[in-house]
Amino acid sequence: MDTYSLIHTALKTDKGYSKIKIGNTAIGNGDFAYIAGPCSVESYEQIFATAQEVKKAGATLLRGGAYKPRTSPYDFQGLGKEGLRLLAKAGKASGLPVVTEIVQIGDLDFFEGIDVIQVGARNMQNFPLLKQLGKCNKPILLKRGFANTIRELLLSAEYIMAEGNENVILCERGIRTFETETRNTLDISSVPVIKQISHLPIIVDPSHATGSASLILPVSLAAAAAGCDGLMIEVHPDPKTALCDGEESITPEEFKQIVLKTNNILPCCYKPRGINI
Ligand code: PEP
Ligand code: MN
Repeated sequence: MDTYSLIHTALKTDKGYSKIKIGNTAIGNGDFAYIAGPCSVESYEQIFATAQEVKKAGATLLRGGAYKPRTSPYDFQGLGKEGLRLLAKAGKASGLPVVTEIVQIGDLDFFEGIDVIQVGARNMQNFPLLKQLGKCNKPILLKRGFANTIRELLLSAEYIMAEGNENVILCERGIRTFETETRNTLDISSVPVIKQISHLPIIVDPSHATGSASLILPVSLAAAAAGCDGLMIEVHPDPKTALCDGEESITPEEFKQIVLKTNNILPCCYKPRGINI
């Protein structure tokens, strides 16, 4: 059976593409987002410094993990509630809305001060979590699972939307293939494929897709060229000391260069018919 027939609210209609409003900014239908910040919130100093720097460099949202779904139980797991508090405070101080990942339903009450709730790759098919987030009134950033198809991603979005929350932003962050030179393989064609099927904004995360700081610039430009609605990039004031994903983190200065170069090419990037420019 054609499972696209099971997608209702996420499907493209003649109403055009969705724009998700988040505080003083927006993502989709012509609004390009730059989401930047560390893999994890580590300290007051680290998240405040990052927030100020990325804002100056052109970021439109601040990211930072408080609950980290780490592959090893012995790796840094994030600061939890304290991380959420520091992130929200740094966001307010810099004027940037904040996005951070939820890993279990029971934590939802702690996300009061958070603007966008992220569902990570590992939870893309955590259906009870998706249903619960469908009942909340915050935008959801839904990342593609590394072993999931585009169809499955859209059906996961449908889980959230079917419960009433239509503010879903999709994120391509690479899938697992036989290639080992990069952390994952960025499925660049998923961007125009999703544009043809769905009205939802789709952003790209070149950090987790490549796993390597030196690849963030070229892959960001490629993602923008393919027509994505924004980039989510891991930025750390001192990447070599990062408690999580330092090898793929870039400095605020490197991020600034990416924003400048991406802004330069945006006018000639792919725009699907019907997008508001
Ligand atoms: C993240 O963005 O912090 C993250 C854990 O990414 P992913 O879920 O794509 O691995
Ligand atoms: Mn990370």
